[in-house]
Order: sequence, then structure tokens, then C-alpha cells
Amino acid sequence: MITDSIPRAKTKKQEYLLSDALRTIKPNLPRTLLAHGRLLETVMASENPKEIELVCNLIAAEVSNAFGIEAPTVKVLGVRPHRVDDGVCIYQKFGDYDLQTGQIRLWMRTARLKKVTSFGALLNTLCHELCHHLDVVELGFSNTPHTRGFFERTALIYHHIKDTPLRPLIWIKQSDGTFRFDWGRMMSSGNSIND
Ligand SMILES: [Zn+2]
Repeated sequence: MITDSIPRAKTKKQEYLLSDALRTIKPNLPRTLLAHGRLLETVMASENPKEIELVCNLIAAEVSNAFGIEAPTVKVLGVRPHRVDDGVCIYQKFGDYDLQTGQIRLWMRTARLKKVTSFGALLNTLCHELCHHLDVVELGFSNTPHTRGFFERTALIYHHIKDTPLRPLIWIKQSDGTFRFDWGRMMSSGNSIND
């Protein structure tokens, strides 16, 4: 996981630096989200997209409510859009967020095997897309870049819902000024947001 490159345009650069510096979230998220998280894990076993979608919308509504903003709608779809090159899957889309409509789309089945994704992976994608929604609606950003702050806020929401301990994310600075996760050190310290 790598942070986006730092934009040159003034407004976008300001938003980027604000997002990068914002390492925490303001509201205390409610404990009810933990029950919603457990419910999501249960309904994922049913493999029923409508039930999964319902619980994802519950989570989105509860998180948005804590921030005092309107909730996005969440749509749960089937097999992840993907690209295969020479028999190797080189890209697959886990989810996205529409800046105009405020709609989140999540794909619940893996690209090649078409199996239902893990609870952790789906929840992580939901939290990632929710963080885009918060950037746009709560913070008023015109753009919602992937910065260290973005990933850390996503991790806070994810670990709260999953009721797992949060440890600081470990970053390595690259020569172009972007950062990437130090997976090796994070895995050895037992800290992952994709578990
Ligand atoms: Zn994103």
C-alpha cells in the first residue's frame, strides 16, 4: 500500500497535506458498531448479497451518524472487476466511491476463484470507502487522496468495528516523498488492517 503522489496544484496540495496530518477521528464511535461488525461476519457466511448489503448500509449509517453527516448508500456486487494478463490476475477492484452521488460499491467475490471474500477484507474495503465519504462530506475536500492520515483514519474505524487492537502503522518514506507500509515490520508486530 502506497500513498498517492503529492499534487502540484495549490488547493489539491493543501488538501493532501491536511489529510496526511489528520491522523485521528473526532467522534467516539458507538459500541453498537461492534455488534454490526459481528452481524456482518455472520451474514457473510450466508453469501447473500442483499443481506450483506443491508448490514454494510447499517454500518455506513452508524459511522456517518457519529460524524453528524448524511450516510452514503452501499451497493454490494458480485465478482470483482479485474484484468488478467498471461493467465495472471494483475488487477482487481475491491470497491469504489462516487464523489458525485456519494455511493459506495463493494465487490464481494474474488476475481479468479469467485469465492466470497473474507470478512476482514470486505470490512476493510467498506471502511476505506467510508473514509473517502468522510473526506468529501465531513471535511469538504474536493479530492480525497490516499495519505498516511487517510489510511490511519481507515484503520481506526476498521479496528473499532472489528474490536481488534490498533497499533501504529509503520511507514517507509520513499525518494519521491510518498510513503509505503512496512508490511514486514507490521506483520511481525501482528498489525495488519487486512487480517
Ligand atoms: Zn481509495
